Order: sequence, then C-alpha cells, then structure tokens
Amino acid sequence: MNNWFETLRTGDIPIQWEETLQRGSPIYRFLSESDRRELRSYILWFIGSKKFEGCAGLVITDEIRVLVAAQACLLLLHRETPCYERLRLIRVYPGASYAQSSTERVLGESWQHGVVELAWDSVRGGAANPFDGDNVVLHEFAHQLDDEDGKTDGTPLLGRGLTYPEHAGVYTAWARMLSTEYDDLRQDIERGRKTVMDSYGGSNHAEFFAVTTECFFEKPQQLLKKHPHLYAELKRFYRQDPAAWCAEAPEDATA
Ligand SMILES: [Zn+2]
Repeated sequence: MNNWFETLRTGDIPIQWEETLQRGSPIYRFLSESDRRELRSYILWFIGSKKFEGCAGLVITDEIRVLVAAQACLLLLHRETPCYERLRLIRVYPGASYAQSSTERVLGESWQHGVVELAWDSVRGGAANPFDGDNVVLHEFAHQLDDEDGKTDGTPLLGRGLTYPEHAGVYTAWARMLSTEYDDLRQDIERGRKTVMDSYGGSNHAEFFAVTTECFFEKPQQLLKKHPHLYAELKRFYRQDPAAWCAEAPEDATA
C-alpha cells in the first residue's frame, strides 16, 4: 500500500485474522471500536509491507503474522505519520535462543538495520497475558521507535508537527522525566524495593523506555498510580490512555 492515509481509511481484514485477534490477543477486546478499526488497518499495512522469515524450522503462518503485527501496531495508534519506516524484516524463532556470549535466554532483539528477531512462544504468551507487564513484541518495537532518530537512548522522536518552542519544551520535559524516573528505579532496585517495572529497565535508558512501554500498555493503572509523571509523558508520546481503556480489567489482573 502506497498511501499512508488511505491505509487508515480501510480496516477490513479476513475473518480468520479477526478470529485470531479475538482469541489470541485479549487486549484487542478492550480497545474502542474506532481503535480496533485503526489497528486492523495498521495490521494490513504491516503485513503487506514487512517481510517475515521463519527460522530454526519455524513455518510462518497467518497467526504469527497477525499476532506480531497487532502488538507491534498497538504502539502506533493515533499517529499521523508513518513509523517503522526502516523496519524490513521480522525473523521468528520457535522459542527463546541463547546468546552466544552468555547463558542468558533471548526472547527477542531489535537491530538498527531494520530487523527484529522474536521467539514465537514468547510472542504468543505475551499476547495471551495482556496485563502482566511482560510483552516481548511491545518491548522490541519500542526499541524500533527509539531508534527512529538514529540513537537508541530512551528518547524517541518527540513532538512531531510542533513548532520550535513547543518542540524544545517537549524534549526538556522528557529528559527531566527520564533522568528522574530512571534514577528512582535504579535506587529502588539497589534497595531491594518492589517495583512496577521489571528491573531490566534499570540496565540503561534504552531498556528503561522499552520496559516502561510494556508497563504502560499492560500495567497502566499501577504505572499511573505509582509513576504519574512517567505515565503522563508516555501518554503524550503514544497518544493513548491505556489506564482508561483497561479500567474494566480487575485490579488484581494487572499484578
Ligand atoms: Zn531491550
């Protein structure tokens, strides 16, 4: 599809894809009808423009395409400009692999040259549990958004379409939030305090942005309550308010 705005006007996907969304991605049911329609349009665009490659014997199916696209494109709702422009290839493995340099399990990786690697069992598990704060697709595609200005540093492209003074203000507010909230998380981890965010977010600013993106969409009420400043900046960036549309989820379901 060539025309970005044209893709957003339509939203008709095959009935099997709709069933996959309903069955495999419960968060879809919490979205408003207009957001669902927008998401379906993005799914069509994503699947039509990005290449999927099965690795280690995995055969790519429509279920894989739809569940990856749905979660990746959840980050794009309400945007007026194209995203993931450099992204060209999604490599999917059957399960977690092990990094060559360590014994650490790797569920996914995002590369600056337009490649994202994902473990299918983690993709499916992340979609099936929308309120546990653990979602490899949201995490890796947050890194893709972070990369769009050429630096993976926890500060994505902000304030698109704004004039200079407004634009500068948005960056200043983000930098202040990032510094304060990241330092607070590091302190909480060092002191052994319970945190809303996974401690992996304390690795560096880039991981902080990816981990807080997972929380923003999957633990929105907890994030809003404990970190209102962080929530407000993510709400401004993503142009979404998951705490409002997740209000129907029981509080303990977000644990
Ligand atoms: Zn990461």
